[in-house]
Amino acid sequence: MAESVSLTHATRRPNLKDHGRDALRTLFAERGWPAYRADQVAAWLYQQDVEDLDAMTNLPQPIREALVAEFDTRALEVVETQRSVDGTQKLLLGARDGARIEAVLIPEERRNTLCVSTQVGCPLTCDFCATGALGFTRNLSTAEIVDQVLHARRHMEPGGSLTNLVFMGMGEPLLNLPAVSEAIRILTDPKAFALAPRRVTVSTAGVLPQIGPLLEVAPIHLAVSLHATTDEVRDVLVPLNKRFPIAELLATLREEPRIHRRRPVFFEYTLMKGVNDSVADAKRLPGLLRGIPSKVNVIPMNPHDDAPYEPPSAEVVDRFTAALHEGGVRVTLRRDRGRDIDAACGQLANRQAAGNA
Ligand code: SF4
Repeated sequence: MAESVSLTHATRRPNLKDHGRDALRTLFAERGWPAYRADQVAAWLYQQDVEDLDAMTNLPQPIREALVAEFDTRALEVVETQRSVDGTQKLLLGARDGARIEAVLIPEERRNTLCVSTQVGCPLTCDFCATGALGFTRNLSTAEIVDQVLHARRHMEPGGSLTNLVFMGMGEPLLNLPAVSEAIRILTDPKAFALAPRRVTVSTAGVLPQIGPLLEVAPIHLAVSLHATTDEVRDVLVPLNKRFPIAELLATLREEPRIHRRRPVFFEYTLMKGVNDSVADAKRLPGLLRGIPSKVNVIPMNPHDDAPYEPPSAEVVDRFTAALHEGGVRVTLRRDRGRDIDAACGQLANRQAAGNA
């Protein structure tokens, strides 16, 4: 299904969705308007889903006119949507500068999760990831991150609601922390989008200096893309490991006071045949994670053209997860959704996404 893009490339004004409510209040105070007017705008944008400033009928006309003259409220348009046989929907979204990004909506029995992007492409070049193979174009703005969520909400089945948000799409969120932080503030603000922080997970390949500042923003969940038990293997799969090796990464998490039992770290472990799927790996992992409240998500590799890796056999996957169980690790086996539309983890790489900005 294709939808037209109506954003003009000519006007580039500041966007109100770049501002959390505190920043919005400051912006309004600078113009001599009371703080509660900022709260009213936030309620229109995120609770009523109204982007037309002229339709914000409880604002005085002069404020509406001033806002219309100075600000935009929309950052992204839906270019195309694809639906998988399993109900997963992939949204291809276009920005004002022509950049393309993807967001994936995953319906499950008791929850609806949206996977959002934070960058156009990604600079980290993880060896198994299609987004990494695109290279890096630019960071997304707060408004562009928030707009993915608002568009997804409009694509929900009737009666459904968006219950969970994972920052696991295109890009490394912690290399775009200011925009990601402000988006989290908007999305978890009870007077804005009002998602509970425990419903939000931010995934990182391990940008260590930014983990503490991220966890200061809100009590969200942290996911870490581990994918290996030795530096030798992780240096290849996740080249950031050369800068922040496994021992340093895990020591940082172990010493991070905001990580405690109620909010375990989710370690993502993509299983690749003959690379990181040995019994020795499975036996090493529990020792590495000792002292960190954690859960391991085992994800058999999604084969794609940009990477030379394959999933192990079902037997090897079972042997690996069983060995983790025996080692006392909480483990879940995740079968990726939306494979038929290339919407699975590590496959977000719309060819229009890079180089268009
Ligand atoms: S796995 Fe994540 S951090 Fe690594 S290249 Fe892909 S998008 Fe970037």
